[in-house]
Amino acid sequence: MNAGSRSGPPQGATATLKLLFDITREFSSTLELPAVLGKVLSLTVQSLGASQGSLFMLDGRGEVVRYFLARQHLPAEERKRVVSVVMEKGLAGWVFRHRKGAIVEDTRTDDRWHIFDNDEKPVRSVLAAPLTRRGMMTGLVTLEHQQPGAFNRLDLQLLTAIAHQAAIAIENAHLFTQVSDERDTVASILNTVNDAILVSDGREHRLAMLNPAAATLLDLRPDDAVGKPLGDLLPDSPLLKLLDQAAEEQAQDAVIELAGGGHHHVRVHDIPRVGRVTVLHDITHFTELDALKSEFVAAVSHDLKNPLGTILGYAWMLDDEAGLTELQRRYVTSILQSVQRMQKLVGNLLDLAKIEAGVDADREPCSVQTIIANVVNQFAARAGEREIKLEVAVPDELPAIVANELRITQAIGNLVSNAIKYTPEGGRVVIPAKHTAESIIVGVIDSGPGISSVDQSRLFQKFSRVGGQEMAEIAGTGLGLAIVRSVVESHNGRVWVESQLGKGSAFFIQLPLDAALANETSESGPS
Ligand code: ADP
Repeated sequence: MNAGSRSGPPQGATATLKLLFDITREFSSTLELPAVLGKVLSLTVQSLGASQGSLFMLDGRGEVVRYFLARQHLPAEERKRVVSVVMEKGLAGWVFRHRKGAIVEDTRTDDRWHIFDNDEKPVRSVLAAPLTRRGMMTGLVTLEHQQPGAFNRLDLQLLTAIAHQAAIAIENAHLFTQVSDERDTVASILNTVNDAILVSDGREHRLAMLNPAAATLLDLRPDDAVGKPLGDLLPDSPLLKLLDQAAEEQAQDAVIELAGGGHHHVRVHDIPRVGRVTVLHDITHFTELDALKSEFVAAVSHDLKNPLGTILGYAWMLDDEAGLTELQRRYVTSILQSVQRMQKLVGNLLDLAKIEAGVDADREPCSVQTIIANVVNQFAARAGEREIKLEVAVPDELPAIVANELRITQAIGNLVSNAIKYTPEGGRVVIPAKHTAESIIVGVIDSGPGISSVDQSRLFQKFSRVGGQEMAEIAGTGLGLAIVRSVVESHNGRVWVESQLGKGSAFFIQLPLDAALANETSESGPS
């Protein structure tokens, strides 16, 4: 890079300070990296009265990653070669290796300067200084002059001070470029994903950002909508309740149906310094398929129910016959066991279909103590056979819940049945219960084999059976927990598991209290 006329360095400390101040201000007037680099070089050349200069930017390993060369007229390939030669055996390499500035009074007598054969305007004196940030050399600048002895110690001091400011300005520009590149990458990802994404903040959930998919799905115009509370933009939307809950509990997951139809899986996450991020994933297609599949399974199960009843009836009659041989009796026993298993499966499938279809939506006040007592009665014998201690830890007073008693009994029963089934003989199963102002929580805690966190994520899906070979040998349909989830969700509650392999499992059901009944307490049942 070449300067105009030689203006020479300033005279006196005040003039030097003013020059430094002006240069620093100029450096930081832009954050565009190429513009900053151009400014650094031209202002340095000008302030020190050089005829031309070069600027190299280095990476952490000392490789030249960007450069402005005094010999601009050379073709690109040749410039590259010049950079590599001067880093290897020229003054640039010397400054890099010694991490300090240099004055070359006369290039003809100082072999730190590499003389190229085809130099049109031979350089006679040079000044060079490293650019350093946080102890790392990030670049170097060299100023050249056609006259020998053009630079002195004061010039080197000034160049070192300018280089210090330049390194800061270059680092700022670098960071700015990095941040804006990252922002552009994130923006293009957000603009191309099919999932609708919203970012909101504050208690009013003011919309801070939305991607095109969200604008289309929610029929919002970004220019109008950004900055407004979501309550005003989407009144009555089920999203609002989720956002309120997420504000309290950090994250929320749910499936919602939007006003225009269609089911979406929604995840709301509170991300510090970003806001409340809501992602809506369209699952309409899957819910339709799932509904079709459930209808099909329910129809087939219904048709299987009667013939199975008939087979079971005849198998029992056969079992009562006196004249059967040993082998015949073994066959009949095997038929009976298989048919009973099939009946259980069909029964479970029909139950699931009914719960999902909302057929048995009757609700009445019921006592959780009574439900737990009934479940314990039902499973006491089985627990006894396996020498498993079945304990209840329920407070004397618990508010009544408004629920379908049969289904809640079935849900808690399924958890207790699993706990007894999967816990090795001699183990322990505890059923605790407690209540908060809004809900009742019932747990089923066992000392069994535990469940890995990977398996926990798919435990509540239909037909999901997890664990190793030993678990697979224990009879089951993989529908018990799917029923629990359907029952609990149809009561607006939630179910979850806390477990670690080898340390037992704890399943919890949380059911909301009906506000009107929350103050009445029922005292029946065991404590
Ligand atoms: P299943 O009829 O197979 O018991 P569930 O839906 O009730 O079906 O349970 C799904 C799977 O979850 C089971 O096959 C088992 O692998 C695992 N599981 C359920 N409860 C427990 C438990 N208390 N301890 C360990 N594993 C369990």
